[in-house]
Amino acid sequence: MAIRPILELPNPVLRQRAKKIRRIDSKVLRLAHDMVDTLQEANGVGLAANQVGELRRLIVIHLPEEDEFRIYINPEIVQRDGEREVEEGCLSIPGYRAMIKRSVWVRFNAMDHTEQVVKFKAEDILSQALEHEVDHLNGILYIDHMEAHQKLIPVESNDEEDHEAADEGNKLEAKAESGPSDSSKSTDLCTPGDDPRETPASLKML
Ligand SMILES: [Zn+2]
Repeated sequence: MAIRPILELPNPVLRQRAKKIRRIDSKVLRLAHDMVDTLQEANGVGLAANQVGELRRLIVIHLPEEDEFRIYINPEIVQRDGEREVEEGCLSIPGYRAMIKRSVWVRFNAMDHTEQVVKFKAEDILSQALEHEVDHLNGILYIDHMEAHQKLIPVESNDEEDHEAADEGNKLEAKAESGPSDSSKSTDLCTPGDDPRETPASLKML
């Protein structure tokens, strides 16, 4: 078991679709355990295999109130309903957060690492985490759910240099839209190297 580096935007692997896992072999189990270690080290709530450079449909979730890490293979959201506004961050976009819309609940199917089929309905942070991580497997990031008028908000930090770098930093279209260029649609992206553990406790990094 090992801690793997977490890929950050604009790494192209984060924009690719992960492939279905046909057989849960020792390689898949090693990846799952490495992802658990990596998520624990990053103090995050969820991690998708794309984020450690593996295009396989595997996610791990660690809810703050649970001791056990959840490992889901070939996860699918089969139904979702409602709309609510949530604050969200991503381990692959460190130093930033945004308010986006997520479903109120989802119905979820997957397989666990012992090849047992898992089916349940999720709400709250679990529902949010499952939507976020399954999005990752499809090359989708939370910033894709931002409305055009919304901006990425820097996570509070004592490091002034980070803010200056972010102010001047790379511009990123929050949403792929055609039409006239509008600077209000652009969002600042941070420089790599921010420590996700500096984020406020209220913000869950997924
Ligand atoms: Zn993420």
